Amino acid sequence: MGLADLHIHSTFSDGVATVEAILYHASTHTDLDVIAITDHDTLRGAQRAMELASRFRIEVIPGVEVTTREGHLLALFVTEPIAAGMSFVDTARRVRELGGLPIAAHPFDILANGIGARGLQRIQHDHPRLLAGIEVINGSLLTPVGNIRAEHLRWELGLPGVGNSDAHLLEDIGAGYTLFPGRTASELRAALEAGHVAPALRQRDPAFYRRALTRFALRMGLGLADTLETRGEDMRIRKRRA
Ligand SMILES: [Zn+2]
Ligand SMILES: [Zn+2]
Repeated sequence: MGLADLHIHSTFSDGVATVEAILYHASTHTDLDVIAITDHDTLRGAQRAMELASRFRIEVIPGVEVTTREGHLLALFVTEPIAAGMSFVDTARRVRELGGLPIAAHPFDILANGIGARGLQRIQHDHPRLLAGIEVINGSLLTPVGNIRAEHLRWELGLPGVGNSDAHLLEDIGAGYTLFPGRTASELRAALEAGHVAPALRQRDPAFYRRALTRFALRMGLGLADTLETRGEDMRIRKRRA
């Protein structure tokens, strides 16, 4: 069995680690066999990773996380840029045209642009062979709810389920992963196409929530103390609206 983490961010988008650091960490601190650097709307991280991959004991597949109008779409095995801001269906079609595999990222992560159940049900009904899978384990989600809902939906829609970390920090690489028969990138591709993949979630280490908070702080451009206050404020605002 091989292990793959196909959703990792580098400094080419909002990740904290460089591509070099990611490759080094993944090949020395994890059991992963294959990874994809999938930065937001740029292939530069993936291109850099492909250039450097031969120096590390890990295989790299090219990928990008595309911002569509309805949510984030992982485009795997793609080496040409794909425009952001198109519809989810048109983006997935473009991925297929380029020989890639389109996978719905974190469908139930509302904060991070998941497409949601209704969108996926509609697409699967109208375009049954368009999507290659659903990310049913996203290792960066703070609660298990989104992953559980995604797992239910994948069975309902009959789509393969993959597991990824969506790591923005080195320590989170491999937090979610996909099991597949084989060890190589080409075996991974064959397994994805045949639906012979299984998602898995690594047990969380105690520092996971601290890292998640740090990431939130970085995203908002705030110090940690500010973040705690902001979070409290967010919660109050949400409560009032509910
Ligand atoms: Zn995303
Ligand atoms: Zn992501």
